[in-house]
Amino acid sequence: MPELPEVETVMRGLRQRLEGRRIQRAVLHRADLRWPFPEGLVQRITGARIEGFRRRAKYILMRLDGGDSLLLHLGMSGRMVLGPAHPNAPVLHEHMVLETDDGWRVGFVDPRRFGSVDLVSTAAEDGHRLLRDLGPEPLGEAFSAAHLSSRLVGRHTPLKSALLDQKIVAGLGNIYVCEALFRARLSPRRDAHTVAGARAARLVPAIKATLTEAIAAGGSSLRDYVQPSGELGYFQHAWKVYGREGEACERCPGPPVCEGIGRIVQSGRSSFFCGRTQR
Ligand SMILES: [Zn+2]
Repeated sequence: MPELPEVETVMRGLRQRLEGRRIQRAVLHRADLRWPFPEGLVQRITGARIEGFRRRAKYILMRLDGGDSLLLHLGMSGRMVLGPAHPNAPVLHEHMVLETDDGWRVGFVDPRRFGSVDLVSTAAEDGHRLLRDLGPEPLGEAFSAAHLSSRLVGRHTPLKSALLDQKIVAGLGNIYVCEALFRARLSPRRDAHTVAGARAARLVPAIKATLTEAIAAGGSSLRDYVQPSGELGYFQHAWKVYGREGEACERCPGPPVCEGIGRIVQSGRSSFFCGRTQR
């Protein structure tokens, strides 16, 4: 599942290629993804100029000159594929195609169809049903130690679950919560309310640094963002704990001091951590 840094990278790639262009042609190959495509979608976006892009949590907003924003979510398996617009064989699982006035096409490919596409008035983006209850962006100023503390006070759930709660902070997923907790030396099992205060002051910068580094690892030019296949995003992750059960922990000497990266299951999802330094 694409996480926030990946979605940011996809958004930057779309911005570099599509900003300022007109949508010359829009094609839908089915009636729905997770939800039905909005009524009249093709008519409403055809001919529109793409004014800009914004990411909110793991949603991408493509702002059009008519006052609408196209709201895109990649779901579990969604991908954006860029390429020159020319008649070619249909792409497997490509459900929506946009062609621009300068001869490019972007396809929304989603085999599992948990992705979604909607239209929302640009002026009212944050009021959309999928966005209105989201907490602050983790990389924004509103996500501060004071904010996090205020949301953890009195909360008796594992810290990991609190950080995955999109109302507390938007867009964090399993991978980067594991990575940020390792960086902050906090256990995913710790009772959330005990993190309010000094530990939150340590955790917030750890979350920001983890995401910032991951976004930077995605590169800074269209060339970095686009795979040879045309697919946007990046896949060269170097995680410190995620998916590394049983491997040596980079922070500790080996056994018997640290047994390496451990794994537990919390709310049905794996948490990876160093049992010695994350408390
Ligand atoms: Zn360790």
